[in-house]
Amino acid sequence: MELVCLKEKKFDDYLPLMNREVIEEISYLSDELRGKRVAMINATAFGGGVAEKLEALLPLLINLGLEVDWWVLEGSGDFFRVTKQFHNRLQGQEGSLTGPDIEVYLHQTRLNAAAMENWDYDFVICHDPQTAALIDYRDRLRHRARWVWRCHIDTSDPNPEYWDFIHRYIRHYDAVIFTMSNFVCGGADLPNLTLITPSIDPLSPKNAALDPEEAAALLRCFGVEKERPLIVQVSRFDPWKDPLGVIEAYKMVKKEFPSVQLALVGSMATDDPEGWDYLYHTLRRAGEDYDIKVVTNFNGITSVEVNAFQTAADVVLQKSLREGFGLTVAEALWKGTPVIGGRVGGIRLQIEDGVNGYLVDTVEQCAERILTLLRNPALAHDFAVTGKEKVRRNFIVPLNVLAYLRLLHKLNFLP
Ligand code: UDP
Repeated sequence: MELVCLKEKKFDDYLPLMNREVIEEISYLSDELRGKRVAMINATAFGGGVAEKLEALLPLLINLGLEVDWWVLEGSGDFFRVTKQFHNRLQGQEGSLTGPDIEVYLHQTRLNAAAMENWDYDFVICHDPQTAALIDYRDRLRHRARWVWRCHIDTSDPNPEYWDFIHRYIRHYDAVIFTMSNFVCGGADLPNLTLITPSIDPLSPKNAALDPEEAAALLRCFGVEKERPLIVQVSRFDPWKDPLGVIEAYKMVKKEFPSVQLALVGSMATDDPEGWDYLYHTLRRAGEDYDIKVVTNFNGITSVEVNAFQTAADVVLQKSLREGFGLTVAEALWKGTPVIGGRVGGIRLQIEDGVNGYLVDTVEQCAERILTLLRNPALAHDFAVTGKEKVRRNFIVPLNVLAYLRLLHKLNFLP
């Protein structure tokens, strides 16, 4: 396993965004947990929401006095192929779990567990299916740690074979975290089941306020013209994110708004081997329409460019078919950009249909809602104001800090 370097952050910088009760509770809990050693383990330090969430959360826990290390699993191409299949099938895709795939998964788990020999932590927090079976090796640690498993995906309707397999491991953790209660299938036997909604870092380069002129200048490099309407979806190239549906919706809008542009902004996560295939599907569907910009971290997209796209967009889409949370929704709402999301998973926590955005079930609905927003700047503005406040109250990182501290505090004092 590899240790990830973390940037420094100061908790005090976030105080103006928080209510007094939140600040007081965080201060009490972090005093109680000062010096506790925490290992966070996930599958990638780059690309996708989990890396983003850890990057936001961990420096603040450290600044509050905990000793936190972020470990990333080692994995072969085969391991990540199998774990992406876990991801897809836990989100409901059909298919059978084969003996050889189980062997690939358990073999890599064994190799990763070797790195835990003599670890000395009070808490070990494992993220997503890639890490689940590490619990079998808990006795490698020098002292007795509390183990937590955090699920970031939409398991509301999982493939039962895969759920049964993962469930065999997760029930041995001391606590299990999901984002929504309906993601937990028959969770009666899961210990200390906890619901935590993810959050964004409002002060990071991705989310800090960006001057519209600066955003427009950054986007010019990608061929985006400031004067023309812009639809944006920021996400990995993944069937669950439905980039092909986004292109279809854009084509419908284009008939009425010929000047409209579409940007599909996607990062290629190191634990997502399907990403390249799906990027090629997307490029083929975009064809020779040069008003569709398909851009990735390989042609210059960093956090600041993501910020620029989300800031400059007239409408941001997250037309997912399944979604654990969808950080991109909160990111866009925080910038005061109206969002249309698929009526699935964690997107439903963030968008109240018709109040701070729209929820859609089909490509046609999506196109219709885009047209409504493009034609009604005043409505788009109202959504933007309500959306930003919703994020401030519910989805900013200090609230995530509080949720984790509460859970660790509870586990720390369990007999
Ligand atoms: N992201 C990025 N660059 C890209 C595409 C996505 O930095 O080109 C980020 C995006 O801003 C968000 C995260 O990746 O912070 C995606 O998280 P989300 O919860 O939306 O989806 P996930 O990838 O976890 O399914």
